Amino acid sequence: MNSKTTNSQTHKPPLHGRRIEEIILGLLEEDPSCEEGLIQKLEALHFPSNEDTYIYSSILKVFTSLEIEETEAKNIWEEIIKNKEKLSICLQRPVSFRVALLDYFTFQNQKFRNPKIIEFQVYSDTEKLILVDDLTKLYNRRHFETALLREYKQSIRYQLNLSLLVIDIDDFKKINDTYGHTMGDEILKEVAKKIVTNLRMEDTACRIGGEEFAIIFPQSNEVQALKAAKKLLEACRSIQISGKPVTISGGLVSFPDKVNRMEDIYDFADRALYTAKNSGKNQIVVYSNEKRNSFRFETNLDLYCILPNKTIRSISRNISITGIAFETEDDLTLHESIPVILRESESSEEFQVKIKVVRKEKLEHGMFQMGATFTELSEESQSKLKELYLLHQYKAKSPIGVVS
Ligand code: GH3
Ligand code: MG
Ligand code: MG
Repeated sequence: MNSKTTNSQTHKPPLHGRRIEEIILGLLEEDPSCEEGLIQKLEALHFPSNEDTYIYSSILKVFTSLEIEETEAKNIWEEIIKNKEKLSICLQRPVSFRVALLDYFTFQNQKFRNPKIIEFQVYSDTEKLILVDDLTKLYNRRHFETALLREYKQSIRYQLNLSLLVIDIDDFKKINDTYGHTMGDEILKEVAKKIVTNLRMEDTACRIGGEEFAIIFPQSNEVQALKAAKKLLEACRSIQISGKPVTISGGLVSFPDKVNRMEDIYDFADRALYTAKNSGKNQIVVYSNEKRNSFRFETNLDLYCILPNKTIRSISRNISITGIAFETEDDLTLHESIPVILRESESSEEFQVKIKVVRKEKLEHGMFQMGATFTELSEESQSKLKELYLLHQYKAKSPIGVVS
């Protein structure tokens, strides 16, 4: 399935589902007793004729929060109108749509067993408290999980693309430490504003952690979502502190091309974010399940670890776009940032990176086998690494494993 199939289905998706819900709420606010006129008013808005607009399911969603498929929703709507007429005859006075609806859902079609009746305003205030993050006014993690599941189900039902972007502000701790927590909060609000102004109506933006955000792009394939993500990255750079731009890193994954299962969607986007962080930050990385992007290759680069009191020389065993493996006589501390010079013996070209040892193993002959990830890669080192990587691919050196 890809974007080409998106518009050729017989079942059309609720392209304007959320927009219709907003319009319905607006109409009800203007005139709370206009329920029956809703259909005519909505139809008069002339939604694009090639799109099924899901008017009935949207109306029932607004009144009851039930997710009902459009054909069933239309039948239910007609039943409720009939019920309203019957009740009005029985009681010999006009019975409102909502009374008929409640009677229908508790008596005829028992979708409610123990309903509570509440004013729209009170409900939406409560919903905001539960689902919206106080600082940024974006949706919170709780809503993110529900929204992602809902969009995933819609994407399956209507065979649509869906993309998820997870972003994290770069070096945010440094911002807090240098300029204070209040300034940190201001930056969070600014980033949230950039997210909101750069989104489409149907996208959902959430703050899912301290300085971590998630954006759900319904009906968007990888190319479309990546374009939006890059635009957002650029927009965030216009937020500046002491003349320095705020940067973000992002991980993007698209359903169904790169992920199939609901439980993997966030996980894969997060893995791509991890790669973005470990390969220089200030970039969006697209999660890829294509093996050529994730293999490690055997290499014999000269490698110099520059420690405070000495420099350790080694030769790399293998390298990937995110990390390197090598052996040393000396033990290196885990998770410590170490400047490293890598040199290609053939071309004697060299470049600098920083690494963090994430795995080590003592070998029989007293040496240590180290596994390290790249951190703080400059753009130059990153492109050098990519070049090396492609070269090794070209030379068809045997790939030895998958790293992401
Ligand atoms: P990286 O580039 O790898 O993401 O590094 P980082 O410094 O951004 O990430 P790290 O996870 O080390 O630090 C995140 C910081 O965000 C630590 C925490 O104090 C801060 N933080 C979390 N929530 C809030 C908040 O609501 N307000 C402020 N001002 N700071 C927050
Ligand atoms: Mg961060
Ligand atoms: Mg973080």
